[in-house]
Amino acid sequence: MKHYKIAVLAGDGIGPEITQEAIKVLKVVEERNDVTFELMPALFGACAYFATGDAFPQETIAICDQADAILKGPIGLSHEESKKIPVDKQPERGALLPLRRRYNTYANFRPVSLPKALAHFSPLKPEVIGEGIDLIMVRELVGGLYFGEKEMGVNAQGLRYVRETLEYDEAQIRRIMHQAFKLAMKRRKLLHNIHKSNVLKSSVLWNEVMEEVAKEYPEVKVVNYLVDAAATALCLNPAQFDVMVMENMFGDILSDQGGGILGSLGLMPSACLGDDKAYYEPSHGSAPDIAGKNIANPYSMIGSVAMMLENSFDMADEAKNVWAAMQGVFADGFSTADLSKPGSGVKMISTVEFGDKVVE
Ligand code: ATP
Ligand code: MG
Repeated sequence: MKHYKIAVLAGDGIGPEITQEAIKVLKVVEERNDVTFELMPALFGACAYFATGDAFPQETIAICDQADAILKGPIGLSHEESKKIPVDKQPERGALLPLRRRYNTYANFRPVSLPKALAHFSPLKPEVIGEGIDLIMVRELVGGLYFGEKEMGVNAQGLRYVRETLEYDEAQIRRIMHQAFKLAMKRRKLLHNIHKSNVLKSSVLWNEVMEEVAKEYPEVKVVNYLVDAAATALCLNPAQFDVMVMENMFGDILSDQGGGILGSLGLMPSACLGDDKAYYEPSHGSAPDIAGKNIANPYSMIGSVAMMLENSFDMADEAKNVWAAMQGVFADGFSTADLSKPGSGVKMISTVEFGDKVVE
């Protein structure tokens, strides 16, 4: 019997609601397989700050250190609420970035996927979607502007100023490129390299290293795309993309756009992999506007569990079953409020009902 420890960081906003549904699915997987999951809940994010004064408390760190994998809900507060927390204790700066730094989870995989049968969820026309949307964004997660030196102050002219640095070394670029090329080899052998080398020197080095790594994967066709052009192309012709690789900030923005072309951020799970530790989280934020209403879409969180089963526990078959179960709920004509707009013909169900149907 295999035994895995999972740190469960439910997070803020809709986090606890969608985490509860993900746990239901884990319990079913446990019943059906020769495996036990030891769930270790811990405070993380704004909830942790209000309870302990620290968004990533020592106790949570200890639990994550012990865990075989971490399941993390979204964190953060509404723009107004976040003013109650000092800048350096903000959930993103005080918890999310330290988590990523601690476990060096440099490779973030964000699938943007919508089968043809679900084209009606997307704001794009069916002829644009064609045979369906099926791409993966590979986002570098522990470098760039997010982790560069930051400074705020008053300059010699008495003006408030701010400085943030975008820094990568070649080793950081090389390892994310290897992840992207390896993934491309398993898929269509097509890699879109997203950059902004006409303006940013960081992209010049990024592209140089990409070309060096590409020599090790001669079968993969590389297409270079400026990030701004890629944003347009994602709307006009998403089918051209398969694997896309990009630095941290570009990945944050383009992957939210990925959620947009699917029809909801609620369809965006992700995996964040380091050399020794991985955590799994929805790509979206804590959606404070819909928190506590039992209307959030748990697909992103349950999909993150599927990615955990495959990557951390070597349970690819069960991962496929989880995806299929969720697609089955959609195929039966049901979804949560985000995807069941009036006139869409989709029958609206709650967060809990969605989880129940997946379990069924
Ligand atoms: P962050 O900066 O943390 O990424 P954000 O500002 O991008 O956060 P989100 O919290 O991701 O914002 O949410 C944007 C909007 O998308 C929300 O207001 C909500 O309406 C919708 N949304 C996000 N996640 C879900 C979900 N799981 N189900 C339904 N709607 C969602
Ligand atoms: Mg966002």
